[in-house]
Amino acid sequence: MSEVKAATPQDDILLEVKDLKKYFPIKGGMFNSVVGQVKAVDGISFKIKRGTTMGLVGESGCGKSTAGRTILRLLERTSGEILFNGTDIGTLTKKQLRAIRPQLQIIFQDPYSSLSPRMPVGEIIGEAVREHGIVPKEEYDEYIDKIMSECGLQTFHKDRYPHEFSGGQRQRICIARALALNPSFVVCDEPVSALDVSIQAQIINLLKGLQTEHNLTYLIISHDLSVVEHISDTIGVMYLGNLVETGSKEDIFRNPLHPYTKALFSAIPMPDPDVKMNRVILEGSIPSPANPPKGCKFHTRCRYCMKRCGEEEPATYEVEPGHYVTCHLYDGGHTSIDEAAAHQAEKSAE
Ligand code: SF4
Repeated sequence: MSEVKAATPQDDILLEVKDLKKYFPIKGGMFNSVVGQVKAVDGISFKIKRGTTMGLVGESGCGKSTAGRTILRLLERTSGEILFNGTDIGTLTKKQLRAIRPQLQIIFQDPYSSLSPRMPVGEIIGEAVREHGIVPKEEYDEYIDKIMSECGLQTFHKDRYPHEFSGGQRQRICIARALALNPSFVVCDEPVSALDVSIQAQIINLLKGLQTEHNLTYLIISHDLSVVEHISDTIGVMYLGNLVETGSKEDIFRNPLHPYTKALFSAIPMPDPDVKMNRVILEGSIPSPANPPKGCKFHTRCRYCMKRCGEEEPATYEVEPGHYVTCHLYDGGHTSIDEAAAHQAEKSAE
């Protein structure tokens, strides 16, 4: 049985994910037997430093939300390791998992459906605090007031119900519910995509402020690159269950390497109407994760596709320190997509 290890201050990696897979069986036939698998997460690896934020981006259906839920063990993994403070979460018994559950929290996309409509706000925030004995009984009320104030909620709203609040306030309640358990790692699954643009910045700034105050570590899942740019330290780009590019926010925004990342970034709207956008239009839709293309999974939509792309899975290359890409174009040690594409064009002209 694995022990839950205490964090050591010199260990700056809070979460390490190694070759994580999550497959969902497809059942069919007369005997309802397993006839295939949906490879929602197909072998992803990354690390997140304590007190930092990693942004996970990609189109809908790329597996980013499944990855977040599997990391928190809300879904059971198919294989791989999820090391939290050096302990593999996947091997914990129910009792051990319950003991560390307050440290691992999630904030969902839709703040309305994730709050019980029959519970007053004070109870929503405090229910798990009592359950896990986060503070002594006599300090409970004061503690809930403190958490509500920190999240920008009025303490006299404690007895109100979720439907009496706006979307932004409801997301603050969700954040308060997670924060009240004194977590160290929070998965934020599209935390602002259900909110008005004017409210989004407030919630992002609240998350950033709480991170500084409580040394929180975030995994932000979003399809909105401007949100990820605002809050992340590192970024992972997912396509069809795989991480195709990872690196620091600065490196990825300055020098996107993977053709898919390049296409995603070319779609970021520019506030200046005079700036000409060089949009890369991706052809076709994302293939089914139940039957992904052979070789590079992106080859059916990639404008740089070469013969080997449909046959061989690409390796992962470290193009600059800490900046990784999984693409055959970088096999020759190129450091930008323009350079890599020019080299390939030269080769095919020969
Ligand atoms: Fe495109 Fe080939 Fe790179 Fe895949 S490996 S992204 S198909 S160039």
